[in-house]
Amino acid sequence: MRILITGGAGFLGSHLCDRFLAEGHEVIALDNLITGTVDNIAHLAGNRNFRFIHHDVSNFIFIDGPIDAVLHFASPASPDDYLKYPIQTLKVGSLGTHNTLGLARGKGARYLLASTSEIYGEPQVHPQPESYYGNVNTIGPRGVYDEAKRFAEAITMAYHRYHGIETRIARIFNTYGPRMRLDDGRVVPNFIGQALRGEKLTVYGDGSQTRSFCYFEDLIDGIERLLFSEFTDPVNIGNPSEEKTILELAEIINNLIKDPPGIGFRPDARTKNDPQTRQPDISRAREKLGWEPKVMLEEGLKRTIQYFRTHHPDSL
Ligand code: UDP
Repeated sequence: MRILITGGAGFLGSHLCDRFLAEGHEVIALDNLITGTVDNIAHLAGNRNFRFIHHDVSNFIFIDGPIDAVLHFASPASPDDYLKYPIQTLKVGSLGTHNTLGLARGKGARYLLASTSEIYGEPQVHPQPESYYGNVNTIGPRGVYDEAKRFAEAITMAYHRYHGIETRIARIFNTYGPRMRLDDGRVVPNFIGQALRGEKLTVYGDGSQTRSFCYFEDLIDGIERLLFSEFTDPVNIGNPSEEKTILELAEIINNLIKDPPGIGFRPDARTKNDPQTRQPDISRAREKLGWEPKVMLEEGLKRTIQYFRTHHPDSL
């Protein structure tokens, strides 16, 4: 297959490039590099099945030749990033989704949208099944991401229903692992970077809010299964068994480090509309994809710590 991956130089996009190349497919990666980095795909230079195009998919996309699948992974995904790039986040979720759907339609390609647990907002239902409509503050600090992704899901389903293109929607819950930027602001790279530098781990609010952490390898497996499945409705991909409070996560990471620096509370940091709980109901993924995550949190964190130690020794 000839597969196009937007956000191909990002955390998940670059891992998808690796996965599909390893399986013998041809991959074209698009990225405007505002939050992605060529470091993530530098090892693919010279691979004749791989091509990188520096392009912002919010603008018209022209690709020569056939395309069999389009995976739309371009978007800032860290709250700190989408607060820094609010307009770009709205554009890539709306215009970028429209352009990539148009491309998929023109090429007769299958389409997979990277959606998010953020479409559930501050959930009033726990854990969150795909049937839950969500509780989003449209004008809050996270609205730029949440509403862009909600629009993206809506237009994806419209292309499916109106134009008959094969579409898939993955609702991705917190995922971590190698190739996250150490400075991307999300909790796992923040805590690991701080721990390795000997700084106290910055727990925002009181740390009682929960997240469920999925290791990237499991996530990539889930995405691949979804792409090749015949299932059109959205599917949650995440790790429900690893729901932790942020305080627990800080303690786990401290325990994995030789001289743990401890915890420094930041009661006022980023608390507005910060969801208090989040856990995926993955019954649908289990049933329709035969998928469930395998890598447990401590193991995944150990591997991620090792990655940051070896890849960012200068900044630690
Ligand atoms: N968080 C924290 N300290 C940090 C970074 C994040 O306590 O240095 C908290 C944040 O307030 C949120 C959770 O960790 O409750 C997850 O934040 P992240 O940015 O990873 O992603 P989110 O799930 O909010 O999109």
